[in-house]
Amino acid sequence: MQSVESPTSLDAAFHSTATRQAAATALVFDDVSYSYRALRIASERFAHALLAAGIEPGQRVVVGMTNSPELVVSILGTIAAGAILVPVNPAATADELLYIIGDCGARLAVVESAHLGVLRDATPTGLTPLDGPNLGRDCFAATLETSADRRPNAIDPRSPALIIYTSGTTGRPKGAVLSHEALTTNLLTVAEAWRWTANDRLLLTLPCFHLHGLGLGILTSLMVGSSIVLRRRFVVDEVLADLARFECTMFFGVPTMYSRLVALPDTALRTYRRQRMRLWVSGSAPLNAALFERFRERFGYELMDRYGMTECCFVLSTPYDEPRRPGMVGRPLAGVDVRLVDPDAADSGKIVDVADGSHGEILIRGSNLFSGYWQRPQETQRVMLDGYLRSGDIAVREADGMFRIVGRSSVDIIKSRGFKVGAVEIEEALQRHPAVEEVAVVGLPDPDQGERVVAAVILRRDAQVSTDQLRAHVRTLLAPHKVPADIVFVDDIPRIGPGKFKKKELIARLS
Ligand code: AMP
Repeated sequence: MQSVESPTSLDAAFHSTATRQAAATALVFDDVSYSYRALRIASERFAHALLAAGIEPGQRVVVGMTNSPELVVSILGTIAAGAILVPVNPAATADELLYIIGDCGARLAVVESAHLGVLRDATPTGLTPLDGPNLGRDCFAATLETSADRRPNAIDPRSPALIIYTSGTTGRPKGAVLSHEALTTNLLTVAEAWRWTANDRLLLTLPCFHLHGLGLGILTSLMVGSSIVLRRRFVVDEVLADLARFECTMFFGVPTMYSRLVALPDTALRTYRRQRMRLWVSGSAPLNAALFERFRERFGYELMDRYGMTECCFVLSTPYDEPRRPGMVGRPLAGVDVRLVDPDAADSGKIVDVADGSHGEILIRGSNLFSGYWQRPQETQRVMLDGYLRSGDIAVREADGMFRIVGRSSVDIIKSRGFKVGAVEIEEALQRHPAVEEVAVVGLPDPDQGERVVAAVILRRDAQVSTDQLRAHVRTLLAPHKVPADIVFVDDIPRIGPGKFKKKELIARLS
């Protein structure tokens, strides 16, 4: 395994693993296996195709594709070219895609056919769209005219590797810039904490435009030298058969996936071979104690939990060797400085630590931190306090140093099926419909999704519109996971002042 001590670039880390164990399997997709050598060569061809298209180090390349070997090659190739990878949800709407391209000033966009059409129609300035699946296939098939042995210049580990767009409490998503050093150091720390080795095999069904699937699923696996069984998406009925067939040792999921797995019938569980599975890890959203217990009953395994955030990668994890406790997200990972502080004092610029057993906001410092939001110094400053990132998450630290997440300071952040969703972004989308007078979006507790996105809408006088029509309107503007599960027409929304709502009161009312 790579040393956690010496900062390196993602490209150098992948390259040295791929050279060391060239013949080993890196990826399995649709029953086809790809060796480390095959993946390295295809990625280098991809990098050369980007260089040939005029890309220069530090320029942004948007990559929006569904899980596939071509996506993996686009990720590795973009990184190898020294460009900054901007992963995008392949189900993003035209509006979201064009917003991200404009905001990060992308030079190239590697996308699937639906988005290719959007980009050809909209022709954003300075952008060249590329057909991702075709380019990726050409890289594997060696039909590209490039020398696979020539490598682009070495990459400075402190330079940006990724910009991941993440929702916040205000307006549209912001691009969190993560350096090579932040990623390699943090991801290899997670690998070490979880005793992850080249003998592991991960069943990866997470989407790979979020740090969970992209960072832990793809990048860490390929730096460690383990193998990935990649699926297009999570299909609950296929998981256990896949684990058995491909002899997997690890599965990473969000709580929604686990709540669907525990609901599988007994007949499905018979294919599950307990002995090979070394790690079942939950993350990205709260794993409640009841689900932990239910999983233990049905699968005979105590789930690991890990807490993180796009802006600071991975922060807390269940210790591998200690007895696991329901409701706990674990302790800080090596090299990550975590404090629990009084959020009111933090609002007035002071750090006041709270005692063990008391509620406090999680503050994070360390080499795992992002470098800021892309071209938004003020927004970056707003989430930083004396070198610490303010998470907005409220937690309790037990006497043994274990953390328990108890809530969030902002009602405008919703976690639905593991996705972070900003209430304001959805309100703005609904507000663009001519029938909508006022709208407040909240997250309501939901046994399957964690939180369900619900919009309370006041219609304009005499306006005629159905909830389905409003949902269809949002679907034209935002990705599917941001479309409200429920829209409720109301006469009044509890408010503090004009356009300022008492959302906690609204949540109580709607619940
Ligand atoms: P994202 O930036 O999309 O990864 O979302 C980060 C947010 O997800 C955090 O600020 C938490 O609110 C939530 N989160 C992530 N991991 C966990 C976890 N293990 N338990 C509870 N909440 C989590």
